Amino acid sequence: MESANIVIIGAGVVGLAVAAKVSENNEGVYVFEKNSRYGQETSGHNSAVIHSGIHYPKNSLKAKLCVKGNVIIYELCEKYRIPFKKLGKMTVAIDEEEVNELDKLMKQGTDNGVEGLEFLTGEDVRKLEPNVEVEKALLTPTTGILEPDELMNHFYAQARKNNATLATETEVTSLKQTNNGYEVGGTSVGERFQVNAKTVINCAGLYSDKIASMAGLDTEKLGYILYPCKGDYFRVSGKPLVKMLIYPVPKGPGLGIHLTPDLTGSIRLGPNAYYVDKIDYAVESDEKEFREDVARFVPKIVEQQIRQDSSGIRPKLQGPKDGFKDFVIRHEVDRGFFGLINLVGLESPGLTAAPAIAEYVSQIIQDEIKK
Ligand SMILES: Cc1cc2nc3c(=O)[nH]c(=O)nc-3n(C[C@H](O)[C@H](O)[C@H](O)COP(=O)(O)OP(=O)(O)OC[C@H]3O[C@@H](n4cnc5c(N)ncnc54)[C@H](O)[C@@H]3O)c2cc1C
Repeated sequence: MESANIVIIGAGVVGLAVAAKVSENNEGVYVFEKNSRYGQETSGHNSAVIHSGIHYPKNSLKAKLCVKGNVIIYELCEKYRIPFKKLGKMTVAIDEEEVNELDKLMKQGTDNGVEGLEFLTGEDVRKLEPNVEVEKALLTPTTGILEPDELMNHFYAQARKNNATLATETEVTSLKQTNNGYEVGGTSVGERFQVNAKTVINCAGLYSDKIASMAGLDTEKLGYILYPCKGDYFRVSGKPLVKMLIYPVPKGPGLGIHLTPDLTGSIRLGPNAYYVDKIDYAVESDEKEFREDVARFVPKIVEQQIRQDSSGIRPKLQGPKDGFKDFVIRHEVDRGFFGLINLVGLESPGLTAAPAIAEYVSQIIQDEIKK
């Protein structure tokens, strides 16, 4: 039986960022990924937005790690020439009720330490974005876009440079606590395998609740059950309608259908948000919903052709009837699982926050596991 120091389950952007960071000062780091390549699940199906941090309650992990991750991501992009654009975002309000919501976002963003926030009048907005017709907007200049694959390639390269090993087509199907760690078992390229690991970091995205349960935690009692929540995207044909990211004030479980340019300038609409009970990336929504939502603040959308693009599935801890739920990132030592770090519910802003999450996890290892 082989042994490892640290096993990371899952090679999405979070698992890879964690691997890159913890391998800086730990030997024997392994990443197990069930697919044939990294980044094929949520990390490859998202809006690719570097969020500013206005959307999350003060002192939540989402707020703290997003604001910190935003700064680190831009530094990484500059230093390692990862393509990005700091386009800025406008969250727009079309009536009094929505203007009140903007005030709340301004306060929350300021509390969270987001820099450069500014209100714009409808007139200011029209000057910047002639196709956007609104009452008022909140400008967040630190919002941007990047190519998630390029960010993951970077983390993977760093992890490899630090001698971490990625095993693809390697699915973890059992996780048992032993006297000095965990016995991690499963199938690797069609063969059964078993590895002893001192530390296990659960970065399994949509399956992270299953992994926590495999280890022996009562996931129902702990509130670790995930509710997959899908979002579809449509793409707008023709000359781009906007240059910046344009969002409505958020309603429901998502951020509202917004307009996001990609690195080529082409505009995607979405994602919407609906709960699903299976993982299937086929676009299921009707274009009418997208047009009607966006026409409230970009009336010209009714003249444009839009077509189905892609979808993503959020690993949400927030069920259909729940309010805000934070990321779970925790060493389960107080529950009798020394050396097990769970990352559950890493929905948005997990892409933005990934390098900050990696630092947070690395600190847990330094302070609580290595000591
Ligand atoms: C529609 C949508 C839009 C989003 N937009 C943004 C955005 O604009 N900005 C932003 O910051 N965030 C955004 N997010 C959130 C962001 O994409 C996620 O937070 C992030 O990708 C999560 O990364 P992850 O590594 O935790 O999960 P994943 O990318 O899902 O990776 C988990 C990995 O674990 C592997 N795995 C699972 N089970 C096992 C097992 N048993 N054995 C081995 N491997 C296993 C999976 O195959 C997978 O590769 C969005 C999410 C969605 C769904």
